[in-house]
Amino acid sequence: MSLPYPPRSAYYDGKLQSASSTSSFQTIDPATAKPLANIHTTSQSGIDAAVASAKKAFPAWSATPHIERARILQKAAAILRARNDELAKVETHDTGKAFSETSTVDVVTGADVLEYFANMVGGGGLNGETIQLRPNAWVYTTKNALGVCAGIGAWNYPIQIALWKSAPCLAAGNTMVYKPSEFTPLHSTLLAEIYAEAGVPPGVFNVVQGGGDVGAYLTKHPDVAKVSFTGQVSTGQKVAGSAAGGMKYVTMELGGKSACIILPDADIDQAVDGAMMANFFSTGQVCTNGTRVFVPQSIKAAFEKKLLDKVKHIRAGDVSDPNTNFGPLVSKPHYEKVLSYIKHGIQVDKATLLCGGPEKPAWLSSHKNKDYQNGYWVTPTIFTDCTDNMRIVQEEIFGPVMSLLSYADNDIASLIARANNTDVGLAAGVFTKNLNLAHQVIGQLEAGITWINTWGESPAEMSVGGWKLSGVGVENGRKGLEAWVKNKSTLVDMGGEVPTVFAKL
Ligand code: NAD
Repeated sequence: MSLPYPPRSAYYDGKLQSASSTSSFQTIDPATAKPLANIHTTSQSGIDAAVASAKKAFPAWSATPHIERARILQKAAAILRARNDELAKVETHDTGKAFSETSTVDVVTGADVLEYFANMVGGGGLNGETIQLRPNAWVYTTKNALGVCAGIGAWNYPIQIALWKSAPCLAAGNTMVYKPSEFTPLHSTLLAEIYAEAGVPPGVFNVVQGGGDVGAYLTKHPDVAKVSFTGQVSTGQKVAGSAAGGMKYVTMELGGKSACIILPDADIDQAVDGAMMANFFSTGQVCTNGTRVFVPQSIKAAFEKKLLDKVKHIRAGDVSDPNTNFGPLVSKPHYEKVLSYIKHGIQVDKATLLCGGPEKPAWLSSHKNKDYQNGYWVTPTIFTDCTDNMRIVQEEIFGPVMSLLSYADNDIASLIARANNTDVGLAAGVFTKNLNLAHQVIGQLEAGITWINTWGESPAEMSVGGWKLSGVGVENGRKGLEAWVKNKSTLVDMGGEVPTVFAKL
């Protein structure tokens, strides 16, 4: 059967490679459950070859003048922008996310970060410092590229994740071997070709294909100096553990169960919009989702009513239609996982179902594309009267499932304690007109990414990373570049003052 996309395999030495193993898998269109392309799993010798290609390219790339590296990466950002809609279409096929999202967020935010880091290194971002110790002695520091780095991606923002890892990595002078999620691999070799077209030399950005075993082999490869990982907490723990054995640098961008706090004086329409964004954007498949929505008792009824009105404006359906703003879940296993949480919420947690549920969405039966009935479609679901110990409140569902938790208006201290009562600490947010109170609350929340009166925006300038089990390190912003260099400090003494502990007594 001919598939919509040509087969994908590894990419290294500046070109697409032929299959290096007999094993392969298919990537599936989540809207219809139909296959999109065959993907050849990269064998261990193929991974070795990709790492060798990156190792060979490292000396010249790391020695390339910053301004020249910047120019090449800026060109890649321009190509990404020029091909935005074509790449967004691929992402929509692969992830199921509506084109209205992928064409305005996924490629754009990836290209922004590439441009940001290119400009940063072109503008002196890799300069070290000079510290004058005394008139004839000083310390100078240099920022040095790490070497071959591994990037391992999740499926929810495929090209964005690939760019958020490779942009600072390459800008800092490293080379990369990138493994996309096996559920969404289509963007990976397209990105490699765009880098090549922009002038990135062969071996600087490479791709291997496959699942957890490919990621695990890459992580423990002795020639890999750093692993930047995005995925679940449980996988991140394995990856960080394996990398620790080789004393490798790591960045871990992991899951969350973030608190979206509505304070009693909040503008209720703004707060409802925030809660909608924090739960239903990307069909709830956003790591920073604010799935625990804390609502004061005084406005709970009004908040629920407005939420129900808003949910009616979610437009699921043809993912390529620019008016659609809600797609299917990414894969069959993920669909089954989300449905099992919804059923658990009803049957075991006994939360009150405000809307949605585990049934197939009603619109599916009359949709013009009959294949959609096989897709991984769910209905936006809201539970209310939830309590802190329910499983749906404690565990990351990663789907369009909101839990409403109420609190006594005057008890902000226990509200904060409840918001922090979780092992993860990725994001949090507060809605209020009282900005003093907003800063006080934000200051006490245990999360690395926080918002006041908005939700979800993550511009290139903003460093993002989780606290607690949600991760280690940050991506983006000025600190994002530091994650891809190692420091060397040199003390120069022009007075010839060698310590004399070994002088003759
Ligand atoms: P996952 O952990 O299942 O897989 C992530 C990647 O790890 C995939 O490429 C997978 O093949 C690979 N992998 C699996 N086992 C491995 C192993 N032992 N060694 C090395 N690699 C291995 O995660 P997922 O389901 O793809 O993504 C969803 C998760 O990602 C959610 O928890 C979400 O919160 C998180 N996420 C976090 C951020 C962030 O910035 N913090 C961003 C996006 C997604």
